[in-house]
Amino acid sequence: MNCELCGRVIDHYHEVIIDGVTMKVCSECAKYGTEVKRKQVPVQREQVQPAVQRKNFITIPSTPPRRRLTASPDDSDEPIVDFGKEIKRRREEMGLSQEELANKLQEKKNLIAKLEREEIKPDKQTARKIEKFMGIKILEKVQ
Ligand SMILES: [Zn+2]
Repeated sequence: MNCELCGRVIDHYHEVIIDGVTMKVCSECAKYGTEVKRKQVPVQREQVQPAVQRKNFITIPSTPPRRRLTASPDDSDEPIVDFGKEIKRRREEMGLSQEELANKLQEKKNLIAKLEREEIKPDKQTARKIEKFMGIKILEKVQ
């Protein structure tokens, strides 16, 4: 390169300020100006932020509490198994004939017979009546 002031070919230049102008000049011309102190401008290290460590959140799946499969109480009553035998057993225990029991319950004898044979299931009202009168349990809540 050349000295910007005298034009001499130079290998190394001096950066000087002459009349407020920064010039790259030879060592001779450098005397005319004020050498610019090379400030080693520290390379601004970009503050590399470490990648924000993701916290390993333990995600607890929110499982809703298990719903109990319970029908409404009024509809969940089902005659227990062997309700017929139970009626028969209790009836005999009470010393009643089917007809007598039917009369007590204000039901037809035929119904009692069918219930004892478990040919039909008592409707809830009848079942409750039997339970109450005979002191037995033929209805059971469905779990
Ligand atoms: Zn020069």
